[in-house]
Amino acid sequence: MDTGLRGKVALVTAASKGLGRGCAAALAAEGVRVAICARHENEVRRTADELGGGVLPWVCDVTDTQQVGKLLGDVRSTLGEIDILVTNAGGPPAGTFATTPIEQYPKAIDLNLMSAVRLVHGVVGPMKEKHWGRIVMVTSISVKQPIGNLLLSNMARAGLTGFMKTIATELAPHGITVNALLPGLHETDRVKSLLASQTGDFEKNKAQMVAGVPMKRLGNAADFGAACAFLCSMQAGFITGQNLLIDGGAYAGLI
Ligand code: NAP
Repeated sequence: MDTGLRGKVALVTAASKGLGRGCAAALAAEGVRVAICARHENEVRRTADELGGGVLPWVCDVTDTQQVGKLLGDVRSTLGEIDILVTNAGGPPAGTFATTPIEQYPKAIDLNLMSAVRLVHGVVGPMKEKHWGRIVMVTSISVKQPIGNLLLSNMARAGLTGFMKTIATELAPHGITVNALLPGLHETDRVKSLLASQTGDFEKNKAQMVAGVPMKRLGNAADFGAACAFLCSMQAGFITGQNLLIDGGAYAGLI
């Protein structure tokens, strides 16, 4: 399928590894000129080199308003206006209500909600002028089915989902789609370290995790990236305000 994206400009945040990297790789494969960012310079540079195809690296912490402003300006002056925005960030610390200190709440909201709000603020003006834009937000299966030990993540992503749905309606008349991708279990560094910290050993517990996924495997960055590229495609122009699960069938609810 020709997605019709050749020559478009994308910004994918938090993309030196894992799901963000998967989105960047899939967009680059469609001929999109992709800017990626992360906080650690060596890793983000290495990833851009590995992805090739005109992927360019920037160092940016998406919780820092000034850094995000500079990133948007630099990407614009290097690649042109941003047509496609994929908002991603790291995940907040694990914990229950009993174990989560009050100081961690605003930090999680900043990381997994306000980071996306900041980025969207910076890109919608030019998208409206072009009457074309794609915004994809990485959230989590926890939006449909909260995860017990991930209170902060559950809370912040629910807020982001409210933002996503609201602006999807507001931006639709301007030719801009806004959707969320909801990862189930994907084998990334984040999942490996979360599970290792909860259960002691990722590999030992992988079989048990896989058993809970109807597809009988964990997802990977390529599965996730393919869905991202589709939501950005010309063909997906009538899809907006949606929450798309990428979970191998793990979510048990009806809708
Ligand atoms: P990952 O493998 O740990 O990768 C995280 C990426 O984000 C890295 O490139 C990291 O690079 C970057 N990053 C972290 N904090 C950042 C910040 N403040 N500013 C800019 N970049 C930042 O994580 P992942 O598994 O791909 O997960 C991506 C998102 O999806 C997370 O929010 C995660 O909680 C969520 N999620 C993942 C799964 C899953 O199965 N993997 C499931 C549900 C939800 P630097 O450290 O260099 O900044």
